[in-house]
Amino acid sequence: MRKTTNMYLDKVKEECGVFGFFDMDGFDAARMTYYGLYALQHRGQESCGIAVNDNGIIRVHKGMGLVNEVFDSENIQELKGTMAVGHVRYSAFSDFQREDCQPLVSRYIKGSLTIAHNGNLTNAYELRHKLEHEGAIFQSSSNAEVIMHLAARARTKTHSIEEAMLKVLKKLEGAFSLVIMSPRKLIGIRDPKGFRPLCLGKLKNSYILASETAALDVIKAEFIRDVEPGEMVIINQEGLRSIKYADETTYSHCVFEYIYFARPDSVIDGVSVYAARVQAGKLLAKAHPVEADIVVGVPDSGLNFAVGYAQASGIPYEEGLIKNRYTGRTFIKPTQDERAISVNIKLNVLKNNIEGKRVILIDDSIVRGTTCANLIKMLKDAGATQIHMRIASPPFMWPCYFGTDIPSRDELIAVNYSLEQIRQKIGADSLGYLPLEDIKNIGLRKDRGYCDACFSGKYSVNKLPNGNQKPSKTQEEIYDNPRRDKKDFKIIKN
Ligand code: SF4
Repeated sequence: MRKTTNMYLDKVKEECGVFGFFDMDGFDAARMTYYGLYALQHRGQESCGIAVNDNGIIRVHKGMGLVNEVFDSENIQELKGTMAVGHVRYSAFSDFQREDCQPLVSRYIKGSLTIAHNGNLTNAYELRHKLEHEGAIFQSSSNAEVIMHLAARARTKTHSIEEAMLKVLKKLEGAFSLVIMSPRKLIGIRDPKGFRPLCLGKLKNSYILASETAALDVIKAEFIRDVEPGEMVIINQEGLRSIKYADETTYSHCVFEYIYFARPDSVIDGVSVYAARVQAGKLLAKAHPVEADIVVGVPDSGLNFAVGYAQASGIPYEEGLIKNRYTGRTFIKPTQDERAISVNIKLNVLKNNIEGKRVILIDDSIVRGTTCANLIKMLKDAGATQIHMRIASPPFMWPCYFGTDIPSRDELIAVNYSLEQIRQKIGADSLGYLPLEDIKNIGLRKDRGYCDACFSGKYSVNKLPNGNQKPSKTQEEIYDNPRRDKKDFKIIKN
C-alpha cells in the first residue's frame, strides 16, 4: 500500500472533520456533503468518504486521498439519497489502512448504521478489549468501530437509536464529535467536555452538521448554533430534537483549534478563530517586543498572528513568504538532506521585501524545530539582517490524547532544550513564545473551560489512556529541568 506523508512542514496534525446533511427540500445530499468536505479538507488529508441513505439503502464511496482525488462526478452521481454523512481524516498511525477510512457503515439486525467520528476515545483500548473477548470481530483500528459495536448491541435492547446511544455514551470517555446516520435519522453528538467542535446549520428546511462553520458558509447554509458539549441532536422528517445527556459538564474545548487547526473564517463556540489569532498576535507583541523593520507571518495561520503583532507594535506588516498552493500530499518522505528542499517547495521568500530588513517572523507553534530552522535560513539567505522568531502558542511539552497527533516527548524540541538552546538551534536572533497565562486572554469565552494540556500538562480527564500518568510537575518546573541545560545538543529525530 502506498504511504503518503505531509512532511513538507513540521506541524501537528488534526485527525478528522465530519459533516452530515439531512435533506427536506430536494437538495442533492451527496453533493452538499462533497462541498462541505472540501471546506473541511484542512482537518484531514489522508482519506475521505461519503455515505448516503436512500430510504434505508446505504451507498458509500471512500478511499485514500484528498476529496478531489477520491470523488469525481461519476461516483458522486451514484450516491443518491436524502441523508448523507461525510468524513475527512488524517491518520496519526503509520499502519493506517483502507479499512480505517470513514464514514464506517455496518448492517445489523435493525438495519444500517453509519458513523463518522472526530476525536479520540481515551478508553478505546479497554472497550475494544472487552468487546473482542465477547466475540466481536474488528476490521479496522478506528474508534468509530468500537462505537459501532456498542451501538449495535445497545440498539437490540432499546426502542430507538437515540436510546441506544444514550446507553453507549455512558461508556465513552475522551473526545468525540460524532455524526451518526440510522435508516431514518441523522444524529449529532458532542462529548461532555466539547474537546472537538461540532455545529448545526440550516439550508431552507434541510439540516446540516459540520465540524466547522466554514463548511456551512460554503453551501450557503445558515449557522444555527453549536452542538453543546454533552448534547445529542436528532434530526428526522419531523424536525430537530435535542437531548442533554450529560448532567455535569466541565467544558474543555481544545485551544489549539483556535491557534492552528480550524480555519480562520470559522467561528467555534461563539469565538471567531481569526479574531482569536489576531489577539494572540497582539499579546505576543506585548510579551516579547523587539526593534525591527517588518512583521512577517508564516503562511497560513502565522499571517493572522502577524496582523495582530503589527497592530500592537506599530511595526509594518509585510508579506515575506509565499505559499505554493498546489503541493498537495507527497508519496515520497523527504530524507534528512532533502528537508530544506521540501520546505522550499511549500514556501518561498519574497526577496524584495526581506532584503536588508530586521524581520519579526511569526508562526503558530514549534514542534521539532526543523521547519523553523529552514525558514530562518531561507530568510537570511535572502538578505534579512536579523530574524526575531515569535511563536503564537506556548511550548509543546505534552502529548494530546484527544485526537491530535503531537509527536512523542522525545521529539518535541521544547522538552529537550532550553529557550536559549532552541534559539541557537533554529538560528534566530531572538525567540519568544506566547506565555501560557495569555492563552485564556486570546478572546476565549469566560464562561467556558479550555484544554491546554499539551502546553500545561493539566489534563481535564480523570484517567489517561494506556496507563499513562498525569504529569506531576508544572510547566514552569519542567522548564527548569536540568536535562534541558545539557551543553551538548541531543540529536532530535527528523
Ligand atoms: S492536548 Fe492540546 S491539542 Fe489536545 S485537545 Fe488539549 S489543547 Fe487541544
